[in-house]
Formats: sequence, structure tokens, C-alpha cells
Amino acid sequence: MDPLSSSLEVVDQILEATPAIGGRIDSTGRIRFANGALAKSAKQRPEDLVGRSLADLVCINCQKVVLQNLTTALQGRKVSVEADICLGAQDVPESMQLRFEPLMGAGWSSEGLVFLGESFARGEQSSKGDSWPNNLLQTLNEHAIVAVADLQGTITYANERFCQISKYTKTELLGQNHRILKSGHHDAHFYEAMWTTISGGQTWRGDVCNRAKDGSLYWVHTTIVPFLDGHGLPAQYVSIRVDITALKAAQQRAHQLAYYDQVTDLPNRRSLREALAERKSPLFGNGTGALVLIDVDNFRVINDVHGHFAGDAYLRSVAGRVEGLLKEGHLRSNVFHLGGDEFVILTDLQGLDLDSTNLLMTGLITGLQEELSNTHRISDGGSLVDLALSCSLSAGVVFFETPLAEQVNLLEKADVALVEAKDRGKNQVVYFDQHLRDQLQERHELEKDLRQALHQGQFHLAYQPIVDQGNHVVGAEALMRWTHPDRGAISPGVFIPLAEQMRLINAMGWWVIEQACLQLQAWQANPVTCDWWVSVNVSARQLKDPAFLDQLMQFVKRQQFPLQLLALELTETSLLDDLSSWTLDSLAQLRDLGIQLALDDFGTGFSSLMYLKELPLTKIKIDQSFVRTLLDNPKDQLITQSILTLANGLGLAVVAEGVETEEQLQYLKSVGCPLFQGYLFSRPTFAERLLTLVLPDRTLLPSRPK
Ligand code: C2E
Ligand code: CA
Ligand code: CA
Repeated sequence: MDPLSSSLEVVDQILEATPAIGGRIDSTGRIRFANGALAKSAKQRPEDLVGRSLADLVCINCQKVVLQNLTTALQGRKVSVEADICLGAQDVPESMQLRFEPLMGAGWSSEGLVFLGESFARGEQSSKGDSWPNNLLQTLNEHAIVAVADLQGTITYANERFCQISKYTKTELLGQNHRILKSGHHDAHFYEAMWTTISGGQTWRGDVCNRAKDGSLYWVHTTIVPFLDGHGLPAQYVSIRVDITALKAAQQRAHQLAYYDQVTDLPNRRSLREALAERKSPLFGNGTGALVLIDVDNFRVINDVHGHFAGDAYLRSVAGRVEGLLKEGHLRSNVFHLGGDEFVILTDLQGLDLDSTNLLMTGLITGLQEELSNTHRISDGGSLVDLALSCSLSAGVVFFETPLAEQVNLLEKADVALVEAKDRGKNQVVYFDQHLRDQLQERHELEKDLRQALHQGQFHLAYQPIVDQGNHVVGAEALMRWTHPDRGAISPGVFIPLAEQMRLINAMGWWVIEQACLQLQAWQANPVTCDWWVSVNVSARQLKDPAFLDQLMQFVKRQQFPLQLLALELTETSLLDDLSSWTLDSLAQLRDLGIQLALDDFGTGFSSLMYLKELPLTKIKIDQSFVRTLLDNPKDQLITQSILTLANGLGLAVVAEGVETEEQLQYLKSVGCPLFQGYLFSRPTFAERLLTLVLPDRTLLPSRPK
């Protein structure tokens, strides 16, 4: 690079580092360099401004003042004027201090000039008038951290800003090697690459973390421009730095939020996903490893009984104990917190044989189970309390070999094993094996088919009647049915959770609502059925879709039947965490329109009472599990009676679900339950078939169909 262009590059760097609008103009009056601020004001890209005249960028009224001063400056005179300038497509002129400074002397080319424009509020006196810099280095001094160093890196010039940020005095800096700024954040490689670039006469740019005199760290965006001598060799280095510490802190915070769990500070699901995707993590060193997916059994109870604060503290305590145990065992491993009560341990099995591996895993999990069942000391906001939170844990384990195959989805496999562990009654460990592999394969196939099912018309609704104490049908629950072309009927217990996971439930849920409303409309015409209401099940995922309740509101307003005939069943176990106040408001609006809201499977979750308080309900459905054991279990009798008393007090209707025997029915009637649903009356069936079972007075035929 020749000395001239190197010098001009320094000028351009300085201009770029200046927050004022600025640029460099050649002797013919054409822009050769436009800084970011100018481009932004002109609403153009900097490179598109090159070759144009400065006068082109301002409105017609401002052109004269710009051209006059430009011409003066091109004749070698320094100009400084205050003028009202309209830049870009702006209509309102801005008061600006305009500077034109010929580029001459100091080893720089004698051709061309630089210009700078700094706006100040209208009416305000230009305070900088007299102190405007005499040369470019001074201009820069005001805005950037500047240092000059010799070929060995010894500091020969440091400006005030450099002193401020590094917390050294000028005397302390001058004569020192730049090395004193090193923070230890970057490796030798980083500095080598920088030196190779600048000693080769090239400009180097990068973000550098430096250490100030008091030990604190700061980040600077750094440009180092080699200043070349007459032979084109570097003579000294000018470095221009801009403080980006705040920006870096914001970036680090964003990174922390994206990759770490906010409760436990452990790496989160995304971190795990990326660790697995990279497949080259140092954890996967010795050929075999294990992924252990842990779930704290009944964690919701802690949240519900002791509050979220204690719940979070408990999770932190669990995280600490898991990490402690792994450290004790000298296992090379990482712990991730996937959110909620789910943790993952990714561990290197250090090339152990099968027997030793099994021993190791058994030891690890027994240790974890012990840890979790011990008392956890937890702060409940202010004081430390010993809560005897002896939870158990369920775990799914999958072994893997490294390097990982590309398609392997370890988390999914561990999840299948975990679900199996929960199904076997919790407090269990299940290893992913051939049997689960087949199950997973089958699930994948089912998922594929489920995606097609809606378009291919494979769903229909079955209706199960709901009757009153006189055996009259008062309504029906709409239940989704899937007839698979090869496998026949598939239980909603299987495909609904799948649809929820695959996010197909929203589309399917809409279909159900539309079909149910068509049915309601059709029943309007028949005096036997015109008062029947229809319940549809609404999944928690549907409620979480911000548009759902809004669309539903619009949809029901278009219906012709009385809206009291439509009921939404919300399942308590799937309502999960907090419903937003927005959701609660929307539900209240739906209720105001007449729509009924029922709490399904009442009594199976842990927050029943809370939901009773929060949700604008009209009905509750006592879960089948209570009804099933009603006659043998005095506790269930007590619960059922309490539910009825509570509902009565709150003015809610009650439906007992899963009534299968005459004895159950008699008992429920004796304690005042008003409505019933179950196989005793009818299984869910086609709407047309249901009609054949009902007499004109709306009583169900005594022949109970199977
Ligand atoms: P659910 O809402 O609790 O529905 C009642 C379930 O109990 C139905 O099972 C019904 O067939 C069954 N049932 C009714 N009477 C008796 C009885 O006397 N004894 C016994 N043992 N069971 C009885 P189904 O149809 O298999 O549905 C299972 C679950 O699938 C439903 O439970 C509901 O949570 C879900 N589901 C069904 N259709 C839909 C739907 O359209 N949308 C959503 N989101 N979920 C649905
Ligand atoms: Ca239901
Ligand atoms: Ca239910």
C-alpha cells in the first residue's frame, strides 16, 4: 500500500469513528468517503454516496451554502459556518455547524478535504465554535480512544479518553508496551494474528477485552491502522478504539438468557440441543456415554403447596445436589436444566465395559434418589426453613456411542424411557431398549399418519349423553374418534397427547368445535334434542394460542343456536401453570356471551381449588377415578360429597363422570349429584345412533348399549 492511500485510510477511519456526520471529498468536489452517520442521515448506503457531490444530498435551498463553502475549502481555506441544512428526504432543516478542512501537510495528500457536520438544537449557540479542532487527530480525540504505538508496540501517544478508560495517567502509559492492557481473555493466537496483519501494512479490526489499571475489564471495538513510511513499510500504528463494554454486557446477558436456565443457572435445553448437534463436545471422548433424563415426581405439589418461591429454591437445591454427586464420583459430565422439573445429565462413561457401566449408572441414580428424598433446606422468602420435601425421581437413560450418528435423537429416546418410568408408577429408572425403540418407531409412524388424518377425513365425533336424576338426556360430550385406514380405531388417549406435542391440536380443536356447532344447529330442529348442550374438550395448548379465544368469540357470535348450549371443557391437569390475565378475561367474555365453562377431571390435579377461584366456571366434572372407587373407598366418598357441597355453594353444576354401575348411580344420587355420564347410560356413539336410544320424553332407553 502506498503511503498516500494509507494516510487517507487513516483519515477515513477517523471520520468513521466520529459520531458527527462526515466525509472526505476529492479535489473535484466528489465524495470519496462517507461515514456511517452521514449515510444514515442521507438515508443511503455509504458506498452509494461515493462519487456524488455533497450538494446532491441536501435540498435545493441548502445547495448554495454548501457549494460556496465547499469551493472556498477546495481553494485551501478552512471553513466553519452555521447553517440550516435539510439532509436526505428531510423536510425540516436542521441547524448545523459545518466544517470543511483542507487535507494538507502532516504527510497527508494535499488534495481534497474533509467535512464534518454537527447538529445542535435550534436557537442554541454553537458552543464549539472556537474550540473546534485544528487537525484531525484532535477531532478524533474528542470522540474516540486514540493511541499511537511504535513498531515494538510501545505507546508513544495516548489521548485523554484512553486514560479515562484504562484508568492510567498519560505518564504511566507513555513508554509502556501495549501488553499492559492485556486481560487474559484472548489467547496468544489472537494477538499473533493481529500483529501479522498490521506489520504487513494492513488495517486490523476486532473487539478486544482489555484490563484497566484497577483490574476491571472493558471491551473496545478496535481499529489499528499502520502508518506507512516513504518505503511503504509500517512506521507506527494508530489505534482507534470505541468503548463497547455496555454492548458486550448486553450481548452476554442475552446469551445468558438464551442458553441458561434462569432459576438454576444451569445450561438449558437449547445448550443441550447444540451440544448434541455439535457432536464433538469434549464430553464425548471415550467411545461411550449416557444421557440421563430426570424428572422430579410430583414436583407440582411443591409449587402448589409451598408456592413458586419454594419450588424454585427446591429446584436450585436439586441442581446443586446433582452437580455435587457428579463431582464426587469424578464423572466427566454436564448437567442441563431443561426447565420445569426436568434435568439432563450427559456423562462420559470413560470406556467402561457393560457391567461396570450398569454399576456406575445404578450407583449414580440411587445416589440421586437418596439426595432428593433427603430434607432440603429452603428459603421461603426471608428465613431459611427445613422443608421435608422428600420427592422421588423418575429417570430415562439412553446409552450412546461416539462419534454420534447424525440422525440420533438422544433426548427423544430418553423421553420415551422416562414416560415408561412414569407409567410404571414413578420412582423408577428405565433404560431405552429394543422394546422402547419399537414403540418409538411406531410413534413416528403414527405421527406421520396423524398429520394426514384431518385432510383425509379420518376423524369423526362421538357423543356421550349426560343425563339428569330422572334419566333424561340434557346434553352430550363430543369426543374425537380417529379411524386409521390400517389400524382401525385409535384411542384419543393415544392421539390427543401426540397431537398436542406435534402442535396439531389447534387445527384439530377447531375442527371439533365446528363439527359440534353443526351438530348443535342440527339438533335445534328436533323437539327432543333442541335443549341439549354439547361439551367440547379444549386442550391447554389451544388456550395458550393468543388468537384462539379471539377467533372463538367471533365464531360463536355467528352461530344461530342459543350460546348456553355450547360448553368448553378445560382439563385441570393440563391447564398447568399460570393462565394469563388476558386468557382469564377472554374466558370471562365468552362466559358473558353465554358459553358454559366446565372444569374437567376435577380433583385429579393439585390446584383444583385455585382454578375454582380463578376461572369463570359454570360446571365441574368429578373425575372418573373417584367414581370408580366410590363404593369401596370412604375417602373418595368424602371427597365427592365435599365437591358437591363446594359446587353447590359456588352455584356450579356437577357432572359425575364414568358412572358404570347402578350402585354408583344410587350412591351419587343419594348425596345429591345432579348429572351423570358413563357407560351405565351409553358409550360415546354416533349422533344418529344416540337419537335412536332416546324416547320422546328424553329418557334414555333402559337397554344399555355396549
Ligand atoms: P375425558 O374428557 O375425560 O373424556 C371422558 C373419557 O371417559 C372418554 O374417553 C370416554 O369414552 C370415557 N368414559 C365415558 N364413560 C365412561 C365410563 O363409564 N367408564 C370408563 N372407564 N370410561 C368412560 P375417550 O373418548 O377415550 O377420551 C379420552 C380423553 O381424550 C378425554 O377424556 C379427553 O381428555 C381427550 N379427548 C377426547 N376428545 C377430545 C377432543 O376433541 N379434544 C381434546 N382436546 N381432547 C379430547
Ligand atoms: Ca372431557
Ligand atoms: Ca373427564
